[in-house]
Amino acid sequence: MKFWSQFFIPTLKESPADAEIASHKLLVRAGLVRKLSGGLYTYLPLGLIVMRKLTQLCREEIDRAGGIELAMPHLHPAENWRDGPRWAAAREIMFRADSAGEGQRAGREPEFVLGPTHEEIITPLVKTEITSYRDLPKNFYQIGTKFRNEIRPRYGLMRAREFVMMDAYSFDVNDERAVASYFAMKGAYEAFFRRVGVQAIAVEADTGVMGGSFSHEFMVPAEIGDDDVIYNEASGYAANREKAASALVPADWADAAPAGAVEEFATPGVVTIAALEAAPYAVPADRQFKTLVYIGDGKPFVVILRGSDELETAKLGSLGFTVTRPATPEEIEPVLGAKPGSLGAVKGTFKNEAALAGIFADHAIRLIGNGTTGANRDGFHLRNVNVTRDLAVTRFGDFRRVRAGEPDVKSGQPLQVRRGIEVGHIFKLGTKYSEKFGAVFTDDQKQSHPMVMGCYGIGISRTLQAVIEQSHDADGIVWPWNAAPFHVHICLLDPQDAAAAEMARQLGAAAERGGADVLIDDRVERPGVKFKDADLLGLPLRITIGGRGLKEGIIEVKWRTAKEAVKVPLTEAEAHIT
Ligand code: ATP
Ligand code: MG
Ligand code: MG
Ligand code: MG
Repeated sequence: MKFWSQFFIPTLKESPADAEIASHKLLVRAGLVRKLSGGLYTYLPLGLIVMRKLTQLCREEIDRAGGIELAMPHLHPAENWRDGPRWAAAREIMFRADSAGEGQRAGREPEFVLGPTHEEIITPLVKTEITSYRDLPKNFYQIGTKFRNEIRPRYGLMRAREFVMMDAYSFDVNDERAVASYFAMKGAYEAFFRRVGVQAIAVEADTGVMGGSFSHEFMVPAEIGDDDVIYNEASGYAANREKAASALVPADWADAAPAGAVEEFATPGVVTIAALEAAPYAVPADRQFKTLVYIGDGKPFVVILRGSDELETAKLGSLGFTVTRPATPEEIEPVLGAKPGSLGAVKGTFKNEAALAGIFADHAIRLIGNGTTGANRDGFHLRNVNVTRDLAVTRFGDFRRVRAGEPDVKSGQPLQVRRGIEVGHIFKLGTKYSEKFGAVFTDDQKQSHPMVMGCYGIGISRTLQAVIEQSHDADGIVWPWNAAPFHVHICLLDPQDAAAAEMARQLGAAAERGGADVLIDDRVERPGVKFKDADLLGLPLRITIGGRGLKEGIIEVKWRTAKEAVKVPLTEAEAHIT
């Protein structure tokens, strides 16, 4: 039980000038946070209580899914990042934290960076601590501060420079187990957002700079969201814009598709590209991945790999591909056009479709329609691609041709777009980090393999604000029960009236015994001020105790979501609130 007069809830009548959206205004007006500078906020006591509640709900669900909590440093030796697979891209968003003297001279490489995420820290740790299949799987997580030098911090906690994230990293012995870990976490996310009381939908996402093979983002639908969700209610399809770009069927393609094509495309691995052009810019070496593009009508396949001097035929062999010979320019050119760029190719056959499925799962490519430009997961641009047949890889071994399972743009079931706030993200990473850092294990035959990883993030502080964005009205916040800083707001209208104050204390204690958290507004303020603040704070249940009502033996009870207050006889009061 907290008494307002002895606590600290500095509410404001006016919104701060820099607050553009409702949740940002309410966050400040209801006294949850104060700004230090762009993207940097102090959690005031009320805000901190909500953060703790969300943190605890998150912890419970991740624990339930098998997560093991630890805490890693926020300050990272830059070396870890230099050794990792994405230094060039990640350094853009990292704050550097040099020690005094030498390190600060202009042009010097940073000695330390502030952690924007922790793959580069956890993977070397697991490499040294875990060596046997007997110790796997493991899923380590932490809930703590992350630092990102966002180009445009804005919307309060939504896009901050310093924010709180739950980040988890799973390590498995094989792909199948990694997929199981991934879906266990997806379930934990769903449970977390459900318990918080915010509607967040899982949408298919691109893997972007993280690399990896598949991914979902959790989006809270909201006008002010920074992301687009492309969806179709009827089919249940939902993806972010980048991912969905691969699923859009070009209009002329739809016309050209032969009858019966749907069945034909149920067979994996049939993709024909009429023209493929290398990216018009240099892709940094550490962002180059092995990309396979399948070309051809049926077998044998021409497999095209990026980096012609390094055709990894050995790896291909392990995936069930038998190279018969290098592909000839005549075989490549009709599909690549005049400019094969840095692409090399071999011709051969796949032993079985399962192996092929495995490759597709790990090396999903995105093909885009006529005349458009898009990128595959490596940032490798396919330009002016003339897709005569398209294939979207959504899940391990599960190939869905765009027109078969999804609404096509022409058929009168257009995809719809709405804005969303990304509150969480899950990736199946594969072996990108474990290979780079040498996180390997030995199996029961003493054979060594890289661990198969997944990584997961929930923006706890962003979720706090997303709750407010989704749940407020003109008067203030409307907290869902589990996220509310307190559940019961007792408005004590005459705090100097000893009997009324005692009544408030008793009711508060009863509510606490029933499991509710209680705030008693015992300030010496006019009722109007108290009611306005109660609406602004938005706690689920308001109880008003006034001297006159007490004399009549009555208190007032009002749910934040209800229009009217209900008068309740004192004798029934306790029953009402517990
Ligand atoms: P965004 O697309 O909004 O920049 P992200 O994709 O870069 O987010 P991730 O790397 O996936 O973010 O991090 C996991 C989660 O951390 C995000 O889903 C989001 O909820 C949260 N998050 C990321 N950046 C910020 C930020 N600047 N401020 C607050 N929360 C953030
Ligand atoms: Mg970002
Ligand atoms: Mg994102
Ligand atoms: Mg993300």
